[in-house]
Amino acid sequence: MNKLSFFLFFLVFIIHIFWEQIVIGKSPQAKAEVFSQQVNTVATNSVNWPVLNIIESSQPLTLKSINMKYPNTFFMSGANTKSKIALTFDDAPDATFTPLVLDILKKKGVKATFFVVGNRIEKYPEIAKRIVREGHTIGNHSYNHANFTKLNDEEFRAQINKTDTLINNTIGFSSNIIRPPYGNVTEKQIHWLAGQHKKVVYWNVDSLDWKGLKAQQVINNVLPYVRPGSIILQHSGTGNGGDLSGTVNALPIIIDELKKKGFNLVTVPELLNIPVNN
Ligand SMILES: [Zn+2]
Repeated sequence: MNKLSFFLFFLVFIIHIFWEQIVIGKSPQAKAEVFSQQVNTVATNSVNWPVLNIIESSQPLTLKSINMKYPNTFFMSGANTKSKIALTFDDAPDATFTPLVLDILKKKGVKATFFVVGNRIEKYPEIAKRIVREGHTIGNHSYNHANFTKLNDEEFRAQINKTDTLINNTIGFSSNIIRPPYGNVTEKQIHWLAGQHKKVVYWNVDSLDWKGLKAQQVINNVLPYVRPGSIILQHSGTGNGGDLSGTVNALPIIIDELKKKGFNLVTVPELLNIPVNN
């Protein structure tokens, strides 16, 4: 090999390295690809996010094992083969944010699921009635937002039954879906709920909106993670002066984007193909 051909070979080699490392490796498309891989990893992880909240006295169980043990009672998502997904709003009703969320859903023609707290139904029965009148589904979210894992059997059952009665007395029929506050529930409680033909509804996309996040943060916590069958957790009520304006401002954008992606926004019973009432 003479000097000239060696130089040409060396030059081609350098150009090749340069092209791989600088031009392709740092292109916006490559960056986007890396980002979406990270997002996908997080999205997969987010499915298992509340693992430690299922507590059994002898041995902690993962959501997956609970899901497999109680396939007709415990749900984190619907069929991943269909475009159906469900928006869910916890801690309703309240006088500030629930009406705003309802206004947006009405304008967008979307039906959602509201997990209601018993003592807030006592306080705002008209808003609870409005939720149902406008075609949404109501679920049980305890009487006073209790942490079920801290309660004995009697106290736990009272939380469920009292709220069921309040729902029944307010809207005229009961609900068979339950979401434990904080996602905290014991296996023994799930076992009892299964015997009552209740459905425990978790989520696999968490907006974290209760932290008082800005609209863009709520959007960022939701949109990249939604897959067919997703159950999305948001809030439409707050305890002591919390701010959900981020969720309210994000909601029209979230709905528009999800529709644009071809998702069909339905209630939890429709997503899970379960009866609405007992
Ligand atoms: Zn809650």
